[in-house]
Formats: sequence, structure tokens, C-alpha cells
Amino acid sequence: MTYFDFHHHHFQKTTGIYNLGVEETPPNLYFSAGIHPNLTMHYTEQQFNWLNEITKHKNCIAIGECGLDGLINIADELQEDLFERQIELANERNKPLIIHCVRRFPQLIHFRKKAKVPMIVHGFNKRKTIGEELKKHDFYLSFGKSVLQNVNLQEFVKEFPIDKLFLETDDSDFDIQLLYQKVSDLKNLKVENLMEQIQENLQIFNISPLK
Ligand SMILES: [Zn+2]
Repeated sequence: MTYFDFHHHHFQKTTGIYNLGVEETPPNLYFSAGIHPNLTMHYTEQQFNWLNEITKHKNCIAIGECGLDGLINIADELQEDLFERQIELANERNKPLIIHCVRRFPQLIHFRKKAKVPMIVHGFNKRKTIGEELKKHDFYLSFGKSVLQNVNLQEFVKEFPIDKLFLETDDSDFDIQLLYQKVSDLKNLKVENLMEQIQENLQIFNISPLK
């Protein structure tokens, strides 16, 4: 059983889903590939072609991170166009989407129906009301470091369905075992059971055996 790290940026890590940079050579591990909303103004068609090809790779198990970000100075329409292209790509590849979303949750929910694949909002650390809305619209949520400190988020995690949950380090440097411990405490479970459940949740990626 492993402490699966759902979304991370650590090239050396041996378990989890590595977030591949644009035009980066993939590691010999599971990875996701996408174009971050930050790059909306800079990506080229050549890069999109790269994405189109790399997402056929057997170790590429998800499209992303991609999504919508209300804190960056890039017009919503442009971000939405890029996001929609990636939703279409995910549908075509039949691979789930790993979502980056900041202050654009109503818009994100609107896009949910365009995707024929599961959508996982990574690094979720927002208010309970937003989390409830996402839950209602069948999103998965991946939780990170904030759960270790944020009491409101801890309350939310306690109630959040365990079959819709993942855990991640993202770009932070901390031991994911701490997060597994924290979440199993909150949910009154053994760590092993949490690991097992997350392994089961990973079935949406059609991967086995678990790396
Ligand atoms: Zn990330």
C-alpha cells in the first residue's frame, strides 16, 4: 500500500501523479499533462500539438492541471477557450481532468457538463459552501497542505465523502504521510483503510497495479 500523492511537482518522487511541465520529457511514472491558465497568453499551437501527442502516452493518466484563475490578469474568455480545448481533449482521450480553479467556481461548474470524464479539483482549500456545490455536481476533490492547519477545512474534510477524495503535496515540500494521518484522524479511520480507499478511488484512471 502506498501514500499516493495525487498531484505533485517533484520529478524524483516514485508514487503519485507528476504534473508534467509543457514540453518536458516525462518521467517513467504516472503523470498528467496540461496547459495551466497562467500560460493562456503564451502557449503556442506547437505546444498544443505536443499536448495532443503526449496525452496518448500510456503513463499520462490525466489532462491537467488546467482550469480557470480569477486572480491572474488574463481575460476570462481566453482562459475559458483554452480550458474548453482541454476538456475536449480529455473527452477524446477518455482521461480525467485535474483542475486548477481560483475564484471561478460558478464558471467551473458550468463547464462540468461539457466533460464526459471525471473532474478533480486539486488543492481544494475553499469555503464549505463552495465544496458542497462541487460535491453536488459530482466533482472529486484533492486536498493538500492546508488541511494540516485550516480548522474550517478540517471540518469540511470530516464530512466529505471518502470515495470522492484524494490527497496531494502539490509544489510544497512536506511529508504526505502527515496528511494521510491527519485525514484518517478526522475521519476516524485507520491510515491503511484510507490508503485502500484512495487506491479504489484511483480506478477512475484505469490503472493497475498501483505505482
Ligand atoms: Zn500544482
